[in-house]
Amino acid sequence: MSNTNTSFVLQKINEISFEDRAIPVAGPGEVVVNIKATGICGSDVHYWTHGSIGHFICKGPMVLGHESAGLVASVGEGVTHLKVGDPVALEPGVPCRNCEMCKTGRYNLCPDMKFAATPPYDGTLCNYYKHAADFCYKLPQGISLEEGALIEPLSVGIHAARRGNVKLGDRVFIFGAGAIGLLTAAAAKAAGASHVTIADIAESKLNFAKTYSADKTILLTKKRAEGQQSNDFARQMAEEILAEEGVEAANVVFDCTGAEVCVQMSVFLVKNSGSIVLVGMGASVQSISVADVSAREVDVKGVMRYCNTYPTAIEMLSSGKVDLKSLITHRYEFKDALKAFQHVKEAREGTIKVVITNDQ
Ligand SMILES: [Zn+2]
Ligand SMILES: [Zn+2]
Repeated sequence: MSNTNTSFVLQKINEISFEDRAIPVAGPGEVVVNIKATGICGSDVHYWTHGSIGHFICKGPMVLGHESAGLVASVGEGVTHLKVGDPVALEPGVPCRNCEMCKTGRYNLCPDMKFAATPPYDGTLCNYYKHAADFCYKLPQGISLEEGALIEPLSVGIHAARRGNVKLGDRVFIFGAGAIGLLTAAAAKAAGASHVTIADIAESKLNFAKTYSADKTILLTKKRAEGQQSNDFARQMAEEILAEEGVEAANVVFDCTGAEVCVQMSVFLVKNSGSIVLVGMGASVQSISVADVSAREVDVKGVMRYCNTYPTAIEMLSSGKVDLKSLITHRYEFKDALKAFQHVKEAREGTIKVVITNDQ
């Protein structure tokens, strides 16, 4: 193990550099993890190129990365479930544990959440990261550290499926065939969905989705006619989609794009009394047909990250209910982290998930 703590630091918009930071010391209830694998997420890249996401604004240097796994390097006082050398997946957000949301089990909604690589908290792209021991989950034999890192995006899918209350035999429709759409599909399938349709504007992503978790894929190609209202266009598109063979109105629609037209289409693709789950992040204000939502008793549900998903994810991986390995299309060594970020930023064709590996 390295005796330095090289860290990948966002200095300001479009400026990242490696810094040698002090190796952290585990306090009571904490462990220090030697980070070995980190998935790159759209949000990491967004902080790099924009310096903010919504009301989270980078005001000083911040280490990037939040989808990580590694080996326990040191253990603080009172930690009994982990020992040095254990492989662990890191759940990157640590809540206050005391507020109403924490106490009722919805700790992802804690107002005092400290989440890796969400300003002002440093992320995990470093050699050594200090973390609350109870948010580090030991990986059983047979689950790699790379898979452990991708438990973070899988968690988003698991939580989304739970929010949508996916049940046995449900038909599911998903907008977006990126990693989150694919993992939401996988989680919905594991929860009992009988048929999953995934729609996207990129054919290459849909080709992968067909081999991964989609029963049916739909390539969205149409453009809105000049002067046509977005919601009218959405209604027309949804009618065309529902006319396709093998597609029926869905019990649950997941939007993993954040695009307004997809959210608008969701209203017309969901069954009466069904649910729309908003997983993607797009424009903060969007319009949908409230008349349809109301008259047809459609539940529109928000998603804020996830909670209580890591143990579930580990069970799913152990029992082969989900495959994370095939999502990793590209790997970079830690020293080439900037290249990895560039790769994700350029959204290169054939990319699902880019992982940074660190043998330091
Ligand atoms: Zn992420
Ligand atoms: Zn709390």
